[in-house]
Amino acid sequence: MIDDEQGIREGSKRALSSQGYLVDTAENGDQGLEKIQQIDYDLVLLDVMMPGISGIDLIEKIHEVDPETVIIIITGYATVEMAVRAIKQGAYDFLTKPFSVDDLLLVVQQGLERRRLMLETKRLQMIEVEAKKLSEEKARLEELDRAKMQFIRLVTHELQAPIAAIQTYIKLILEGYVTPDKLQSTLEKCLERAEEQMTMIRDLLELGRAQVVEQRLSEGAIHLDEILNNLLDGLQNQAREKGLEFRVNIQENLPAVLGNAERFRSVWQNLIDNAIKYTNQGYVEVNLYAENGKVIGEVKDSGIGISEEDQQQLFREFFRAKNAKATQQPGTGLGLTIVKRIIEGMGGEIQVQSRLGEGSKFVFSVPAIT
Ligand code: ADP
Repeated sequence: MIDDEQGIREGSKRALSSQGYLVDTAENGDQGLEKIQQIDYDLVLLDVMMPGISGIDLIEKIHEVDPETVIIIITGYATVEMAVRAIKQGAYDFLTKPFSVDDLLLVVQQGLERRRLMLETKRLQMIEVEAKKLSEEKARLEELDRAKMQFIRLVTHELQAPIAAIQTYIKLILEGYVTPDKLQSTLEKCLERAEEQMTMIRDLLELGRAQVVEQRLSEGAIHLDEILNNLLDGLQNQAREKGLEFRVNIQENLPAVLGNAERFRSVWQNLIDNAIKYTNQGYVEVNLYAENGKVIGEVKDSGIGISEEDQQQLFREFFRAKNAKATQQPGTGLGLTIVKRIIEGMGGEIQVQSRLGEGSKFVFSVPAIT
């Protein structure tokens, strides 16, 4: 109860206390506000005309402390204009002086009921928000579960193929269907399929390591140009053996990025390997530069290209385009999945631009450390 008239303060306090309410009083706005900042009151009875800060101006300050505090304005003369102003400011009700104990109790009761409803509504809204969050999280986990199961089915299927082929070759040999002159080549085919399976298992292990969680554990400032430079000799030889021109443009003084150097080797290795593997004539070009707070890498080739339809699926596990399979080049379809996971784990992204029969360009960007 904030009122400069002692009689009204004391009288109201007595009337309300006798009903079991806990009442504090203040004789002016500043004193009242000080108390309100210390204790969370359910309801404030507020005189409009007081020396110092006016009741109307206090309304906003009280609501800054607790927007659900119910404020009842006490006024000596209630004008419509005053009522409109007070309600606009956020007051809930009026009490006109002089008022009876019954008037006071009624308006306080209604005010407290209002407060109870407001708090209840707020609580329900919070529960609703929480329930919505939980159901979204549940849906996300279910989706993840589905994706995992699908992945396991896919892996099992892919791992079965080479073993099934090896089994067939061995059965043919054991049952005497392979003539001595064909034995050598049949065993070589067995070996090829076994190697294919080894590569796939190696890639699967790498894919597991590329998971975001583990990557975060061993992150530091790394230099993508250094990692690339260390790989260049080997890759250059690979390109030369196929008669391809190999071009590298690295901008000087590149900023570092946050990541794991060992892991990032796979990005360069996979992208440039692919460019060489799927290009029969022309060039392979690697560009590395910084732009807008990002380090950007491009791997370009004049190779077989990727159809627009296949570009949509390129980063999916085990996906290999028809024209890539037709080249008879070995592959698991896991390389680009690994690359994407590593890049995204670093907060970056990767995209592809390509035209069938003309060549491809893979562009990735990762945030630079500033
Ligand atoms: P793979 O082991 O088959 O090379 P990747 O995951 O590295 O697996 O690549 C997936 C598929 O994307 C390839 O099989 C191929 O169809 C396509 N691809 C990737 N890089 C290139 C490229 N530079 N040129 C043409 N096709 C590419």
